[in-house]
Amino acid sequence: MTMRIGSAVALRVAGVVMVLGVVALWPGPRAGGQGEVAGADGPAVLYELTFPEPEHRWLQVEMTMGGLPAEPISMRMSTASPGRYARHAFAKNVFEVEAFDGSGNALDPVRSEMARWDVDGHDGTVRLRYRVFGDRVDGTYLGIDATHAHLNMPASLMWGAGLERRAATLRFEPPPGRDWQVATQLYPTDDPLTFTAPNLQYLLDSPAEFGDFAERTFTVADPADAGHTPRFRVALHHDGTDDELDRYAADVERIVRESVTVFGEFPVFETGRYTFIADYGSSASGDAMEHRNSTVLTSPGALARQHSRLLGSVAHEFFHVWNVERIRPRSLEPFDFEDVNPSGELWLAEGFTNYYGSLILQRAGLADLPDTLQGFVSAINTVRLGPGRRFRSAVDMSRLAPFTDAASAIDRTNWGNFFISYYTWGETLGLGLDLQLRVRGADGAVDDDAPTLTLDDYMQFLWERFGQAGGTEPGVVDRPYTLADARAALADLTGDQPFADDFFDRYVEGHDVIDYAPLFERAGLVLQPRAPGRGWLGSPSVRFDRGGARITAPVRFGSPLYDAGVERDDVLVSIDGQNLSSAGRLASTVENLDDGARATLVYTRDGESATTWVTVEADPTLELLALEQLGRRPTPAQQRFRNDWLGSKSGL
Ligand SMILES: [Zn+2]
Repeated sequence: MTMRIGSAVALRVAGVVMVLGVVALWPGPRAGGQGEVAGADGPAVLYELTFPEPEHRWLQVEMTMGGLPAEPISMRMSTASPGRYARHAFAKNVFEVEAFDGSGNALDPVRSEMARWDVDGHDGTVRLRYRVFGDRVDGTYLGIDATHAHLNMPASLMWGAGLERRAATLRFEPPPGRDWQVATQLYPTDDPLTFTAPNLQYLLDSPAEFGDFAERTFTVADPADAGHTPRFRVALHHDGTDDELDRYAADVERIVRESVTVFGEFPVFETGRYTFIADYGSSASGDAMEHRNSTVLTSPGALARQHSRLLGSVAHEFFHVWNVERIRPRSLEPFDFEDVNPSGELWLAEGFTNYYGSLILQRAGLADLPDTLQGFVSAINTVRLGPGRRFRSAVDMSRLAPFTDAASAIDRTNWGNFFISYYTWGETLGLGLDLQLRVRGADGAVDDDAPTLTLDDYMQFLWERFGQAGGTEPGVVDRPYTLADARAALADLTGDQPFADDFFDRYVEGHDVIDYAPLFERAGLVLQPRAPGRGWLGSPSVRFDRGGARITAPVRFGSPLYDAGVERDDVLVSIDGQNLSSAGRLASTVENLDDGARATLVYTRDGESATTWVTVEADPTLELLALEQLGRRPTPAQQRFRNDWLGSKSGL
């Protein structure tokens, strides 16, 4: 392995800079005027965060900005948050906005737009004070209660237009009588409650957990550089026991060790460490969010009851350390905090990460093979059967994220027919490309001497070409990739442009589904109909009431029920003379119908009864089983192929 390009950055992390009387360990800014940190563009912005009444779920932010030009400053609340693609009105929770000049004279902040406050008449310094309400603990919002504060920065902090390249200093003050600590990727200082950020991009990408969380740390040596041993910190806010945390932290470490084998090396974490911020408990919402040097993992359930499921999020988010945080689509770089950030590459950024989330758990011995296979086939079924595939490609679906990723609408939508998640579609593309590469090499398709390639090689290739160089500034990626770059990388890796073109034209930018069965067969896995001979009408979403089965979501395009002319809000009363009084009754009635049969369908619409015909199809759902599950044994070649694919690379 060659010299790490990022090493210079790592060394600079050891540089010591005075920050407002405390020692900061971060590389970017130089010492400024009155002992303040200066970023690229003036003295650091100071944020003082206080929580006088945490039980009432608000925090107070006091910002001090000096060295301002003699013109109004426009203060902004973000409308977007990195990694979450919908527009968010964070400004709705801001209240009591006040401003003062450097002498303490009151100024008049004018709300010129929904998320903007303009402050005029200052003397080069503005102190802005405001409060923010927040009652949602997840990867996007602000959540405060008597036990902790969970901050996503775009939901919490305003910023001044024109000051984006300035450094920031954050001071946390705990509520009266509380001994709270901070877990964050912000740069530490020698004061445990004071942190810095080199610029706005890094600041807003840095969530913080402020509370009395439990903590475990471990180090893992970089496989490419024994002198590089990043520290990993697991900060857990929950109601559980220390034993549960010990077990969780041990499994997180297994995931870290297995993940790094895919790329062969860790990136340079700007502060020398990476932080897992986990909030598991009834006050949290289910979510997970990636950041450059940390992740937020939240769930309303207790750790003990869903240990395995929560590890899936850990594996997914940690993979983002490389794929999305540093191997980054150009469409997301730099992130625009005041607009949506549509990206046609999320099938790779999120979808391949989803695939690796499952693969890493399997390789690390943290998942059972039948469960992993169930996850794979569930994704394949979703893409194969998803009506949206006829309208849009995986690239098109990626670009819909601002409409579908935690976006809310009060009008009814039809995403079931229009949309297939780029997570799911991308997962099937990662899976299919991995197997295609492996089979291709095993068959000596190009050159008998060429090594067998895998998706790990493709990810490593992307890493070396785009991610490894890092950024000239922390929080910035200098060489983001485009869709064309991703295609060219596959062609260059394989030396086979037609192979890359076929994959991208048909599966990524086209509408075809990979033929998985012969690929799985090489690993001793069987892809086959789940229920041969069973009837199928389109798997409608229904709710049962006295009249029958009320359809609760748009009927699947092209399914037997769609062709029969029924739609959402209709009530299915009977099929083939069988009354539909329960889910079990509906399932057994449909399953017993023969492929191609015409059955009578009685339904009501707006209280009026109607009768029509429905033409039954065979259940198209597939299942994926290991030969062993069918009482058979894989051949040595199949076992070898499977081990190369699903076996641990870290020697766990
Ligand atoms: Zn993700």
